[in-house]
Amino acid sequence: MKTKLVRTLAALRRETTKWRKEGLTYAVVPTMGAIHSGHTELVAQGLTRADRVIATIFVNPKQFAAHEDLDKYPRDEDGDVLKLGKAGCHVIYLPTPEEIYPEGFCTTVSATGPAKAGLEDKFRPQFFDGVCTIVAKLFIQTGADYAMFGEKDYQQLQVVTRMAKDLSIPIEVIGVATVREDDGLAKSSRNVYLSKQERQQALAIYSSLSHAAERIRGGLDIQSAARLATRTLMALGFTVDYVTVRNAATLAPPQNRDEPLRIIAAAWLGETRLIDNVAV
Ligand code: AMP
Repeated sequence: MKTKLVRTLAALRRETTKWRKEGLTYAVVPTMGAIHSGHTELVAQGLTRADRVIATIFVNPKQFAAHEDLDKYPRDEDGDVLKLGKAGCHVIYLPTPEEIYPEGFCTTVSATGPAKAGLEDKFRPQFFDGVCTIVAKLFIQTGADYAMFGEKDYQQLQVVTRMAKDLSIPIEVIGVATVREDDGLAKSSRNVYLSKQERQQALAIYSSLSHAAERIRGGLDIQSAARLATRTLMALGFTVDYVTVRNAATLAPPQNRDEPLRIIAAAWLGETRLIDNVAV
């Protein structure tokens, strides 16, 4: 099977219209490129649910603040196309900025609820409006039956799930478990920024969250477990933005221990910001 590259909405719709006529279902996998096995796992999971998979690659300027890494975000279109093709993607949609933000563009999707949980939103205030706007556009442009999102970006997964529901977009958002390196570090396009020493330190983020989750399951109170994980990370040289236990769906602070819980963290190692989360 040959993977088709499309760069315009018209070309994308030619493919999806054909699939619909044939009675086929399809999933979309939105990405910002720099494809790794976390992304190809989303494609693999898409293929288990739908007949066809579209991956999208668009480094969305609207979800980066002025001081963030938009200019140095890793880009490798040829490598990405090869990896996504190998993973079994039928179509790769690489829209130009004009296709996404046409002249005069002035509409933003703005979310509250899980988007204002005081996690990523606290440190990256315009992030989720940027994400919701591009993701809503990709849902509408593709008209896909399923959208595959990684649990790695846990708040994002909850935000886009809620957004699709609130805007009655007929798409099912599917969360896919985080793909990790052998030592537990979550795969991320930003891991390439880590020095050798930081890469070694980085595995502590997953191990400290896993230990905290274990401790909570063992009876330790939620606050103490989160505090312990924070201290461990700080002692290892991390600058911690947050380590917190939240309701797994709403991301609100839990009212009791019997709710489904998720421990979620963001921390810096040098110039690199890492995020991770585990189920309690
Ligand atoms: P990105 O382009 O890296 O911002 O992410 C595109 C999609 O891939 C998002 O749904 C991410 O949650 C997902 N993703 C990124 N890293 C991983 C990973 N290690 N495991 C599973 N999904 C991931």
